[in-house]
Amino acid sequence: MSFFDKKIFKWSGWDKVLMHLWVAALVVPNVILSITEPMGVWAKLANVILPCGVYGLLVTLVARVRLTAILLFPLVFFAAFQLVLLYLYGNSIIAVDMLLNLVTTNVSEASELLAGIMPSVFGVVILYVPLMVWGIYALCKHDPLPPAYLRRQAWKWGGNTLLGVALTAAAYAFEPGYTVLDDMYPCNVGYNIYLAIDRTAKTSARAEAAKGFTFYAESSRDPELREAHVMVIGETSRAANFSIYGYDRPTSPLLEKEPGLVAFSRALSQSNTTHKSVPMLLTAVGADDFDGIYHQKGILTAYKEAGYHTVFLSNQKFNRSLIDELAFEADECVFINEDDSVADHHYDSDLLPLIGEALASDHPKVFVVCHTYGSHFDYFDRYPRSQAVFSPDGPGTATPGQRDVLINEYDNTIRGVDAFLHSVVDSLRAERPVSSMLYTSDHGEDIFDDRRARFLHASPTPTFHQLYVPFFVWASDSLAAVEPNMRANLSDNKDKDIETSVSAFYTMLSLGGIVTPHFEDGCSVADSALRVPVRKYLNDHNQAVPLLEALPDTADRKLIHHFNIR
Ligand SMILES: [Zn+2]
Repeated sequence: MSFFDKKIFKWSGWDKVLMHLWVAALVVPNVILSITEPMGVWAKLANVILPCGVYGLLVTLVARVRLTAILLFPLVFFAAFQLVLLYLYGNSIIAVDMLLNLVTTNVSEASELLAGIMPSVFGVVILYVPLMVWGIYALCKHDPLPPAYLRRQAWKWGGNTLLGVALTAAAYAFEPGYTVLDDMYPCNVGYNIYLAIDRTAKTSARAEAAKGFTFYAESSRDPELREAHVMVIGETSRAANFSIYGYDRPTSPLLEKEPGLVAFSRALSQSNTTHKSVPMLLTAVGADDFDGIYHQKGILTAYKEAGYHTVFLSNQKFNRSLIDELAFEADECVFINEDDSVADHHYDSDLLPLIGEALASDHPKVFVVCHTYGSHFDYFDRYPRSQAVFSPDGPGTATPGQRDVLINEYDNTIRGVDAFLHSVVDSLRAERPVSSMLYTSDHGEDIFDDRRARFLHASPTPTFHQLYVPFFVWASDSLAAVEPNMRANLSDNKDKDIETSVSAFYTMLSLGGIVTPHFEDGCSVADSALRVPVRKYLNDHNQAVPLLEALPDTADRKLIHHFNIR
């Protein structure tokens, strides 16, 4: 063997190793998901063996044209993304909501999150970058592997694939509900990308599809009666941290003393993501009929049709989701964080002067929707230092060891919600005797509460704390005089089951005296006959699943029992 032949042998020897390393690296997410996902043994085996065979065939195929590093890059990208998510949430594949959150999250939210996932980003860089570099080096410098060797590899991986197909057939036969599109990585990620694109297209087409929609809404009250109603949509505030619900720290002292305020104790959100929950609060749709959102309008249009001057105020940024579209139905729409002429750090309290202006206006009837930033992480940034009640309050890092500090910060944000709502009620009382306020949060939050060490919200699988939210209704004395049964009804319903995603919209219609053929009896908490809902959760594929199916973990079941939720 000449020196030249030896060198060729050496190259091709290493390139053969490289081929196998590619297959091994690509199959890492499959192996981890077979441990983290609750599935039977046939599904676990199928989900590793079949993709492994297909990766092997792909690597062999692209090795023929020596473009491994380039053609397999999409698979590397999703493997890396998947491993980061597994590190962050402990389980679950890349979800549709996760993909949509990528385009609906603003830069500051994303960078706050990124800081928490740096160790996993470092890990995937170590795993995949050397392979990419080696692959590109081999492409530029080495000869192709011998065709006979590649043929043998194709036979080997083909056999592996056939075994995988047989195991997949067994999973379909013996494991109810198993589907490749839902359960096998990376097919499920591909399917989720398709769904995310489909949902984005439907969102873009919504304006046109909803154009002719009308509520045929009217006011049941005197058109000249000066009245105002305010709907406050909170962010990431969980009910369990409000003292008005029994939390052992004084987090909501002002609301507790507020006459006319009713705190509903069994309210759950049907979604743990902002971009789905807020649109459900603003429209008639709930988990059961979520797709209806793509061809109907929201609460601001109903009020507008009934003769109200409507105002939407937000302390969040534009996020190109349905929230923006529903917000722009208002006569006036202000996103204070999108106004470059004002200093860049806006607390929710900066919305108060704008509410005051709307209430003081000449319009006889005013309806204001306020979208706050509430208790969103980073908690420490949500309130001025002068309003820190619980300390030490950080800034804490997102680790279980810092839970006490994070809870202090989080409870300070709840004090902020308490003060904000108190101020709204004060303004209403001063400006508009006939008035009301409804407050709920889009979803809750995990703060390293149990052995699972879950943190934040919008994870592919929810937890109890991500869904258990506050729901308050305040009605003024003068409104109670106009609607004689309202206060008694609110009070009678306060410990009944509520799905905020359904009740917020209908309750808001009742408070404003809005009459429409779209009204559903039994859905407003101001109704005398409040219907007991069947608890549902809107999952990642926008299907309504029974709540207990969405919360199978014993830690969540204990909380459901503890907070007396049915
Ligand atoms: Zn949210």
